[in-house]
Amino acid sequence: MSLKAPPELIVFQQMADVPYNWSLGREGSLFLIALRDEKKFLGIKCPSCGKVYVPPRKVCGPCFTANSQWVEVGDEGVVTAFSVVNYRFTDPATGLPREVPYTFAFVRLDGADTKLCHKLAETDPARLKVGMRVKAVFAEQRTGNIEKDVIHFRAVQA
Ligand SMILES: [Zn+2]
Repeated sequence: MSLKAPPELIVFQQMADVPYNWSLGREGSLFLIALRDEKKFLGIKCPSCGKVYVPPRKVCGPCFTANSQWVEVGDEGVVTAFSVVNYRFTDPATGLPREVPYTFAFVRLDGADTKLCHKLAETDPARLKVGMRVKAVFAEQRTGNIEKDVIHFRAVQA
């Protein structure tokens, strides 16, 4: 039987409200505790290739070697990609609609070889650029949740 296009696409719509908890493990917990208690970003370094992962990973993907050396990286870095969001989604962290527009970006922190995803303060596409320098803005009260402990990244004035 050959593949063919269906005459219509069937779409189900339902709301799922499923509370859940999960452990972030040793690496995730140490990373978030340093953010919460010291406003520091920690990375973990591969002993084989030297790649620094932020957020940390237990194993280096290319080497398949256990990462073992913690290193502090900067709270500043560069934007490697971004997207300005103009559609109201429900924020999974709060269950509330997030005000639009907002900007999500990949940021590679100074000293890291990987990037993390977070919000940027800037939402004007004319002022956003790949390669722009940004700095983390920390919340006064921190709980161990990067979505809340780091409010956003803001542009660093050159
Ligand atoms: Zn490696």
